[in-house]
Amino acid sequence: MKIVLASNNAKKLIELQATLPASYELQAAGEYDSPTESGTTFVENAIIKARYVSELTGCTTIADDSGLEVNYLRGQPGIYSSRFAGEHASDEDNNQKLLAVMKDVPADKRQARFRCVIVFLRFASDPMPIIASGTWEGTILNEARGTNGFGYDPLFFVPDLGLASAELSPQQKNQLSHRSQAIAELHSLLTQETA
Ligand code: IMP
Repeated sequence: MKIVLASNNAKKLIELQATLPASYELQAAGEYDSPTESGTTFVENAIIKARYVSELTGCTTIADDSGLEVNYLRGQPGIYSSRFAGEHASDEDNNQKLLAVMKDVPADKRQARFRCVIVFLRFASDPMPIIASGTWEGTILNEARGTNGFGYDPLFFVPDLGLASAELSPQQKNQLSHRSQAIAELHSLLTQETA
């Protein structure tokens, strides 16, 4: 089954494709101007992105919305993760801001999680999108570690492995991540639907 991924992020396409069952062929949407993520929840923003690309392409579409929730910051940056340090902030800018706001926070108050919501839209006006989600628990480091991944991976410490997310191989990350857990739930929901 061919599905278009509503994202310009090539790394997301690679991560998602590696986690999806072989029967699903994920295609990039190609270059397009992203819609404004005007929602106030991960679910709303994922639906906005999926509907926009489904309207553009006429295809079944997957979109994800994800972000980092830091307990000490009451769940921020959350849906604003990619724009934490400003509208056109780079990953580096966002990481520097996170390090700054967490500078004096003690080790036992640095819990955080990545959250991912994935929406599967059969067609643009699909009134009942399939919605799956996943989380990945960790803590925020005091300095960046590792060069893999993207976004906040260098600052996200995975206690079970004693490594930062950016120190994991793509395969290791795919086994644990919020995105792979959301994909697993999506797979299960799709299987139920076609049963
Ligand atoms: P989205 O593309 O609108 O879902 O924005 C997600 C933002 O959350 C990204 O720009 C990253 O800053 C952050 N994020 C989401 N997933 C990850 C991940 O797996 N590793 C690191 N950062 C992530």
